[in-house]
Amino acid sequence: MDITAIYPGTFDPVTNGHIDIIARAARLYNEVIVAVAVNSNKSPLFDIAQRVALLEEVTANFDNVRIVGFDNLLVDFAKQQNAGVILRGLRAISDFEYEFQLAGMNRRLSPDLETVFLTPAEQYEFISSSMIKEIARLGGDVSSFVAKVVQDGLIEKFNRG
Ligand code: ADP
Repeated sequence: MDITAIYPGTFDPVTNGHIDIIARAARLYNEVIVAVAVNSNKSPLFDIAQRVALLEEVTANFDNVRIVGFDNLLVDFAKQQNAGVILRGLRAISDFEYEFQLAGMNRRLSPDLETVFLTPAEQYEFISSSMIKEIARLGGDVSSFVAKVVQDGLIEKFNRG
């Protein structure tokens, strides 16, 4: 079956955990759309253009992965993109409650869209964008958690103050 999957998130910034999920999805689905939420209420460190550009760089080797920004309701955006599946990553039990609620709400809003959860390889399970930002802000080494371009972007952000 020709299924397009949409992988929504803030990706502030993209980590190796996100990339692991994207790589798994790219093997499962015809097309994977990484949908980057503008999410101004979360006051992201990287603006939408920067988050999209970083994702484009780190996914350049996948020919069935596309990066797009969005600022409307996810189920509406998924419909516009003809996606049949919403993809989310699950790390630990702590992700479960929020993800379960989100999946339930999206099903109420759009019953034909299925939410599918993928788990990353275990070395990525503890990585989160917020923790990466905190480590980088305090001058720690994030090179084993994010791509080089992302690391450079973080260093630039925090060196500028
Ligand atoms: P959001 O603000 O929507 O939670 P994120 O960019 O933090 O956006 O995460 C997007 C999706 O990727 C979520 O489903 C999240 O659980 C998942 N995710 C985040 N980090 C990882 C990781 N290290 N391994 C697997 N999935 C992850």
